[in-house]
Amino acid sequence: KQQGRNNFQYYLAPEKTEAQIERFAMEAMLRKALEKDELLVYYQPRINTKSERVVCVEALVRWQHPSLGVIPPKDFIPLAEETGLIVQLGEQVLRKACVQIKQWQDAGMEDLSVSVNLSPLQFRQQHLPGVIGRILRQAGLLPQYLELEITESAAMQNVNRNILMLRELKEMGVKISIDDFGTGYSSLSYLKKFPIDALKVDRSFISGIHEDPDDAAIVNAIIVLAKTLKLKVTAEGVETEEQYIYLQQHKCDEAQGYLFGKPMPPETFEEWYKLNMT
Ligand code: C2E
Ligand code: CA
Ligand code: CA
Ligand code: CA
Repeated sequence: KQQGRNNFQYYLAPEKTEAQIERFAMEAMLRKALEKDELLVYYQPRINTKSERVVCVEALVRWQHPSLGVIPPKDFIPLAEETGLIVQLGEQVLRKACVQIKQWQDAGMEDLSVSVNLSPLQFRQQHLPGVIGRILRQAGLLPQYLELEITESAAMQNVNRNILMLRELKEMGVKISIDDFGTGYSSLSYLKKFPIDALKVDRSFISGIHEDPDDAAIVNAIIVLAKTLKLKVTAEGVETEEQYIYLQQHKCDEAQGYLFGKPMPPETFEEWYKLNMT
């Protein structure tokens, strides 16, 4: 049906076709990138605010295009979502991240965990726990070192099914966090029912801590909520020393942001670690 409509537009609105051709070309390019293994995984440190040690790294995908250079996720994740390529892409990221963390653990970064973003489409795959189990086994990584980040909106679609899925993942020993917390419509009563481990406070609230009293109030409320529900809480997008001190004082468990380090390719992260943690 969709196809038929597009064909119709082809004759009536040639300017539409240009965008379509571009999209098809982009999709073909992305498909090829997946086949040719052009995706890179960058790592951004997450700091425990008490010990001030890196406890986890977030895996963030980049597309290393042979002629266009490094393409950020905002320029291809939406297309990957629309075309379903995100499932394959997400598995590649998971695999690379698990292999990398195991390698770092073996090299002496003993308690390092990794968090990986799950797209809503991946989360809807019935066989996701099986896929993750296989990836962990092949990498030789213990499940407790993998955290899956799902967005509020993905978690809130089809809540009953999601509870079963989360329970299955949790039984495997994998950790689950809610990403961009505060930006969606999580019902607090569902939050209690979800077998999750952590909340990640969205960057938009952190940036306002010292500018907007409402943002500070929201951050405090989320920290208190997390403690009440016995969840770990991580602040995203920490850019200034003042924000970090505020978060430490308010007992936010972990902090992530440019203040500590940007997402980095593996070799750069190793240098960062040597410089900052040893
Ligand atoms: P996200 O999961 O919320 O990831 C955090 C984003 O904030 C990252 O952007 C990171 O570089 C950026 N960031 C971290 N600290 C700071 C800071 O202090 N200041 C500012 N201004 N930004 C900061 P990035 O890497 O461009 O990723 C954007 C989004 O793309 C991610 O948002 C996530 O939704 C998506 N994404 C990235 N990798 C993957 C992936 O492997 N799978 C899926 N499904 N989505 C991914
Ligand atoms: Ca994330
Ligand atoms: Ca986030
Ligand atoms: Ca985000």
